[in-house]
Amino acid sequence: MVPSQIIGFRNVQGQGATFYGYNPVTGKPLTTAFTEATEQEIRESVELAQKAFTIYRKTTPAQRSLFLEAIAANIEALGDDLLGVIHEETALPVARLTGERSRTTGQLQLFARLLRDGKWNQAIVDQALPDRKPAPRPEMIQIQVPIGVVAVFGASNFPLAFSVAGGDTTAALAAGCPVVFKAHPAHPATCQLVGNAIIKAARDTRMPDGVFSMLHGFSHETGGKLVTHPLIKAVAFTGSFKGGKALYDLAVRRKEPIPVYAEMGSVNPVFFLPEALKQRGETLAIQFAQSVTLGSGQFCTNPGVFVLINNEESKSFIKKVADAMSASALHPLLTKSISEAYKSGLEKQKKLPGAREVTTKREMDIEPFIISVPAKYVLQHPDYFEEVFGPSSLAVLADHVEELYQLTEMMPGQLTGTIHAATEDYQTAKELIDRLNQKVGRIIMNGFPTGVEVCHAMVHGGPYPATTDSRVTSVGTTSIYRFTRPVCYQNMPSSLLPDIHR
Ligand code: NAP
Repeated sequence: MVPSQIIGFRNVQGQGATFYGYNPVTGKPLTTAFTEATEQEIRESVELAQKAFTIYRKTTPAQRSLFLEAIAANIEALGDDLLGVIHEETALPVARLTGERSRTTGQLQLFARLLRDGKWNQAIVDQALPDRKPAPRPEMIQIQVPIGVVAVFGASNFPLAFSVAGGDTTAALAAGCPVVFKAHPAHPATCQLVGNAIIKAARDTRMPDGVFSMLHGFSHETGGKLVTHPLIKAVAFTGSFKGGKALYDLAVRRKEPIPVYAEMGSVNPVFFLPEALKQRGETLAIQFAQSVTLGSGQFCTNPGVFVLINNEESKSFIKKVADAMSASALHPLLTKSISEAYKSGLEKQKKLPGAREVTTKREMDIEPFIISVPAKYVLQHPDYFEEVFGPSSLAVLADHVEELYQLTEMMPGQLTGTIHAATEDYQTAKELIDRLNQKVGRIIMNGFPTGVEVCHAMVHGGPYPATTDSRVTSVGTTSIYRFTRPVCYQNMPSSLLPDIHR
């Protein structure tokens, strides 16, 4: 058994129940035992984080930059051993993990640069108007301050980029908030290695004890207790709709309700307009199949629905996509429960009115799948928009463009919406874009939703149920504002203002 909980600078053996990671290739538990955090361990980490907050919130942006850069360097220093551990726990290919590691360290470095450049927290100033009639106006200055201790939950499908040192942790630490991270039971050994890389960075850059803690748990209790602890001031979650909504409900029922930024599942509809299909159908079919099967379909931006006008060209396009998907290389799904949910999700979809199976089955544990359905059924059965997490997609055949518009109007909130259009399709595209901007966080033209750039303009979010707060993003530098709140300093002498740019 390895020490499990990381409570500030201490690795603690843990007194709770024992659990093991899972090898998706063998379908068997791994041998290292971890323990679930006890109530006492949860309390200790949150209280220590609150103590750390009194110091950490006063660190300068330059000091926090050094901390973030040290985390990135320590993750890199773990070398390929880290990738080996993740591969064993997730079956994700090493090439993919190498890319995810660069994305994770690049994200930490991007936030370090953001802090140094200082523009993210430019004060908003209303100058004093001493001669204003009938009453003078004092000077008003608005500044962002950190919100407090943040509880972060990562998803199983991004063991680095949406996990221990992923986007949420990075943004919260950059903002000046300590983090208590709930480790995902699908990759506990990975979490332990990265958690300790953060602690080493905290020590080396003289951050306060408690700026970061990590708790393991295989039952939902750990997460629930963490979210309801009175000293937690915000929650960042990435994962399933069920998990995100459960934690959101707990948080809003607290005596002091707190914001929950839950990024959940999505079906990311892709619209293939007729002229685009006519001009580039062959290529688009292959590219689309790659997007659906990438990472065995385990991406929150996986295109789970595609919409076409019902004609011979579209039918032949669907067949080409299905053939390309059947020939794709897939790896086992991350966990037993994801595997079971994929099978039961498809069974449920197949039984919905109007559903027809397209894909030729192949004999293996995980089958890529396409179901096709006329749009009129989807318009009556919103269940068609439920995420089936895995390498499948639903082909929706519309009789006319009006049905495309109706679909965008009835569909629930999504992370992304994509349109493939040739210039001849632009009039329809314009109408779709106008409707999609009410439903999604990112609109993609002639591309695919998988692959989320970490940059300043990115929006990885969208209206409910894609997230619990459509006003923010969980990827990109503006994600920092989830963990700050504005304070207005009225008539404040400059010597008494907080120094935000040192
Ligand atoms: P998950 O099962 O919801 O797990 C995420 C975290 O939430 C885990 O730490 C889990 O801990 C906790 N959790 C889940 N249900 C809970 C509950 N009722 N109470 C307390 N804690 C709970 O998600 P996953 O299977 O790892 O990830 C796959 C899903 O994530 C897909 O739906 C995918 O679309 C989505 N995803 C979304 C994004 C995005 O940015 N929007 C990114 C990646 C993935 P326990 O294991 O202890 O329950």
